[in-house]
Amino acid sequence: MNSIVAVVGRPNVGKSTLFNRMIKRREAIVDSASGVTRDRHYGKSDWNGREFTLIDTGGYVIGSDDVFEKEIDKQVELAIDEADVIIFVVDVITGITPMDEDVSKLLRKINKPVVLCVNKVDSNKNRTDALEFYNLGLGEYYSISATSGSGTGELLDAVVEKL
Ligand code: GDP
Ligand code: MG
Repeated sequence: MNSIVAVVGRPNVGKSTLFNRMIKRREAIVDSASGVTRDRHYGKSDWNGREFTLIDTGGYVIGSDDVFEKEIDKQVELAIDEADVIIFVVDVITGITPMDEDVSKLLRKINKPVVLCVNKVDSNKNRTDALEFYNLGLGEYYSISATSGSGTGELLDAVVEKL
C-alpha cells in the first residue's frame, strides 16, 4: 500500500525546505488534470519502517506573495484528494495570516488527518510565539525548524502514526 503525505501551506512558510529534508529520493512525476497544472514534487520517504510518498505542493508560487488565493486553495484541495495525511505548515516569524486562516477553514471541513506544523521555531522566544497557532482551531501543533531539523523527528512520528 502506497501512503501519501502532502505538505500544504501558503508561500514561504518552508514547505520545500521541510520536503527536501524528509525525502530520500525525488520522483520525476509531472502531473496535470482537468486544466489545473499540478506543479508538485513527489519524493519517497520512510520513518520507523513506514514508507510513504511525500508531495510538496505549490511549487509555482515560490517567492511570490501576490499569488491568487484561489490557486492556493486549488492546490490544497488537490492535496486533500490525494493524501492520506496532510501536513499543514505555518510560519512563526510571520504569524497567522488571512491565507493561513483560509487554509485552516478548508482543512477543518475534511475528515482526513491534519498535522499542524509551526516552522521557523529557531529559538525559545519563537516557541512562546507559536502558542498563537492554537487560534487556527486545528488543535495540537508540532514546532520545528526545517533549516536545522529540530522537531522534525516528533513531527514524523505523528505523521506515520496517522497513516
Ligand atoms: P515554501 O515556499 O513554503 O516552499 O518555502 P521555502 O522552503 O522555499 O522557504 C522559504 C524561506 O524560508 C527560505 O528562505 C527558507 O530558507 C526559509 N526557511 C525555511 N525553513 C526555515 C526555518 O526553519 N527557519 C528559518 N529561519 N527560515 C526558514
Ligand atoms: Mg516551495
